[in-house]
Amino acid sequence: HAKRLGGDRLEAFRPSLRTHGGDALTMEADLRKAIEKEEIRILYQPILSIAENRIAGFEALVRWDHPKRGRVPPQEFISIAERTGLIIPLGLFVLDKTARQLSQWQEEFEQDPPLFASVNVSSRQLIRHDLINDVKSVMSRVDLARGSLKIEVTESLVMENPEYTAKVLIRIKELGASLALDDFGTGYSSLSYLQRFPFDTIKIDQSFVRGDGKERPLLLKTIVGLGRDLGMSVVAEGVETEEQAKELKLLGCDYAQGFHYGQPIPPEEVRRLLDRRQRVAAQ
Ligand code: C2E
Ligand code: MG
Ligand code: MG
Ligand code: MG
Repeated sequence: HAKRLGGDRLEAFRPSLRTHGGDALTMEADLRKAIEKEEIRILYQPILSIAENRIAGFEALVRWDHPKRGRVPPQEFISIAERTGLIIPLGLFVLDKTARQLSQWQEEFEQDPPLFASVNVSSRQLIRHDLINDVKSVMSRVDLARGSLKIEVTESLVMENPEYTAKVLIRIKELGASLALDDFGTGYSSLSYLQRFPFDTIKIDQSFVRGDGKERPLLLKTIVGLGRDLGMSVVAEGVETEEQAKELKLLGCDYAQGFHYGQPIPPEEVRRLLDRRQRVAAQ
């Protein structure tokens, strides 16, 4: 059984590993090579300003195009990367690449406020590695509008080690990055954390944006209001329909992200998208 192979965590991986016909060790070896061979790609999903109805920024989302297994979604390899420590080079790769990409877009497509990009950071990067230094080094090498590079962390990450995490996040913010609390509403953090941590943005979890739970509309409204009252910008994740988009507009939510507006796309497509928009605006 999975236990014999290495405990509970591995067990959670068994179904997906099986479908891909591999095992954890192969995955680890493959992942190591993939980072070296640049099979890992970063896609960017548009985040729209709802009031202006235009692209305000992007979220960087990793994809692994495995030569034999095809596209491996992040949920399947991020945890392996975390367990094996490969998340450190992977995380650096995403941070560095996204920052350089964003700098180019800002130069080519000026807007006010400038385009932003957000990068997901996982617990090991923050707790067992010097994320502050990584951010510092990126900021010194890459020319970016202040606050336009966002670091996304989840509530569960924050809860693992709140004291330490608060210190790191405050420092990262001082370096000129901004901070988003991802998947808000799904973790167990107390609301008081919203004042102890210097978040600029909360990202409302998809479960409050979609689904037919009776309380969902009220919860959505309450979270949007909470974020706004605390002076944070609010992003709704997972918007798939026109109806959901309208609901968010009525609630006065600032930003939206989801298949309704656009899938995660490669940087060449981002460029085409921004370029087309610029030409339309100039007409
Ligand atoms: P997340 O940060 O909450 O990212 C949002 C996820 O929702 C993405 O899944 C995105 O493709 C998906 N999504 C966006 N709009 C919609 C929609 O309208 N409907 C539905 N059903 N889904 C939508 P993805 O790309 O599979 O990423 C899953 C998770 O993997 C991310 O959740 C994030 O926690 C993690 N992840 C992705 N890239 C990275 C990375 O570079 N580093 C780390 N540490 N984690 C990452
Ligand atoms: Mg995210
Ligand atoms: Mg999220
Ligand atoms: Mg998520």
